[in-house]
Amino acid sequence: MIKPFDEPILVTRPYLPDLERYQAGISEIWSNRWLTNNGPVLQRYEKNLQNHFGTPNVCAFNNGTLALQIALQGMKIEGEVITTPFTFVATAHCLVWNNVKPVFVDIDRQTYTIDPDAVEAAITSRTSAILAVHVFGTPCHLTRLQQIAQHHHLALIYDAAHAFGVRVYNPASGSMHSIGLAGDCSMFSLHSTKLYHSIEGGLLTFNDAKYKKIFEYLRNFGFENETEVMMVGTNAKMNEMQALMGNLILPDLPKIIDKRKTLTQAYVEGLKTVKGIDSHLICQALAVDQQVQHRENHFSSQFLYTPNFAYVPIEVTAEYGLTRDQLYEKLKTFNVFARRYFYPLLTEFLCYKESPHVDLHVLTNAHVVANRILTLPIYFDLNLDDVRRICEIIRFLKG
Ligand SMILES: *Cc1c(COP(=O)(O)O)cnc(C)c1O
Repeated sequence: MIKPFDEPILVTRPYLPDLERYQAGISEIWSNRWLTNNGPVLQRYEKNLQNHFGTPNVCAFNNGTLALQIALQGMKIEGEVITTPFTFVATAHCLVWNNVKPVFVDIDRQTYTIDPDAVEAAITSRTSAILAVHVFGTPCHLTRLQQIAQHHHLALIYDAAHAFGVRVYNPASGSMHSIGLAGDCSMFSLHSTKLYHSIEGGLLTFNDAKYKKIFEYLRNFGFENETEVMMVGTNAKMNEMQALMGNLILPDLPKIIDKRKTLTQAYVEGLKTVKGIDSHLICQALAVDQQVQHRENHFSSQFLYTPNFAYVPIEVTAEYGLTRDQLYEKLKTFNVFARRYFYPLLTEFLCYKESPHVDLHVLTNAHVVANRILTLPIYFDLNLDDVRRICEIIRFLKG
């Protein structure tokens, strides 16, 4: 008989930097007496982020949702936007808050990201953009989406909330670059539940430098100076405590991703013989990571990327003997709190299901995945032995 964990194992736990270093940073903020409104810590943070992404076109916000709303507002996205139902509710909420009609299309069965063929089939004369999501940090079909967007003169925006630290192969330069350089604009969430965070926070990276000023206006009420307001902005400013947290954790990113990789390997090892547990997405992430390490370029360039191991998604299929929901509930009795992420499917929430301002296409894959998906605990402080024990519990519970 396997014993439950003494303490609850949650699906995620925020990474914390060294407390003394945070306190030293707080002391500096105290002596500055500058808490928000583009303070010195934020300015330093944005510089560091520019280095991280390899572009000067980065803007920080108080959270990812407002960052995405501002992207849509600043880029004047209107009419219809084609997006995915297999995402966090904020993706679609941001469209609706901008008076844009979300058009939901199906996902790719393997990667859970938006299906480019479905996108193409849903384009109408009212379509202005594609809003795709790098679900669990797996890159979307970047090349295909870029081609479709170009051909139909659509903006291409990525919800990269899960994808901080992911790098992708760029066939044009023959090298890897940040996933934030894909498309016209990307939003990263720096919420505490993400692998890299600033307590709460959000970022936009974008290709056209003209948006920098616009996004800066929009996050600060549109103010140019005391007497001039340039546009109808909102309040989405990142404060100094957030920027401090972001600054302190940024150098730890390689260490964080490395630990997650080790934990992911342990999950793959521990679950590979369990019938009915499909861990193809994490297997693929590890395989692609290996290929990049060994510079094996023969792989289709679309999927040559360095993963961030942000999540451990598995699919629970009939062969397992328990349903996904039964496994989810049973795990709780062992003090393991997995998450059905994303379930219910966004389009099942009343505000979308019955809305005349929403367009639903065939969502077969999205429904299947939403009904099978379970994300398992992963965070920096989780031990290898904990992962082995979680796998043991999953093997033990098999019906
Ligand atoms: C977390 C998340 C968001 C929202 O980001 P916040 O920073 O929490 O506002 C948006 N989209 C996806 C896919 C997310 O996971």
